[in-house]
Amino acid sequence: SNERILMDETAIRRALTRIAHEIVEKNKGIEGCVLVGIRTRGIYLAQRISERIQEIEGLPIEVCELDITSYRDDRNSGIGGAAKAETAAASEQAMRRNHVQDKRVILFDDVLYTGRTIRAAMDAVMDCGRPQTIQLAVLVDRGHRELPIRPDYVGKNVPTSKQEEIEVSLMEIDQEDKVTILH
Ligand code: 5GP
Ligand code: MG
Repeated sequence: SNERILMDETAIRRALTRIAHEIVEKNKGIEGCVLVGIRTRGIYLAQRISERIQEIEGLPIEVCELDITSYRDDRNSGIGGAAKAETAAASEQAMRRNHVQDKRVILFDDVLYTGRTIRAAMDAVMDCGRPQTIQLAVLVDRGHRELPIRPDYVGKNVPTSKQEEIEVSLMEIDQEDKVTILH
């Protein structure tokens, strides 16, 4: 199989900086905003964005994590092995009602594909409380949506075939920042 680099460390850094600015602009600041990272790599993306927003606005922004494994309606489909071996970062704060109620919840995931994970994440958020809004940020949108879901913030749009797979490596767990396509 073949591998092609879509984003290197610099491209990832620039995309995350842009998204941080877009979040601040769209929400006219960050009041009431909470970043919710979907395990595993979404958590690291949310943490990085929170650091950049802190630099831009000079204010802290809350980050929590969400493991939607139990909410998925199709746990046998999608990618297998590597994703299943992921474990949530133990140091992070699990999502609670106070993160959600009347808040602007911004979900983070590494790759957006059919949209089923995000649908499950929205269920989990709304089981916790009633957010003012839910927004979505992803590093890569690879297309093939099966639900009416679209991201508000996108690092890179990557048209893919269903046979291809995006590999996202992040420094925190993969010792490098890189996005590649395998085909
Ligand atoms: P969806 O639920 O939208 O079909 O798939 C999105 C979820 O599955 C995300 O949590 C993402 O991590 C994972 N995923 C789906 N396709 C890919 C892919 O090509 N590469 C990676 N790294 N993750 C994927
Ligand atoms: Mg995932």
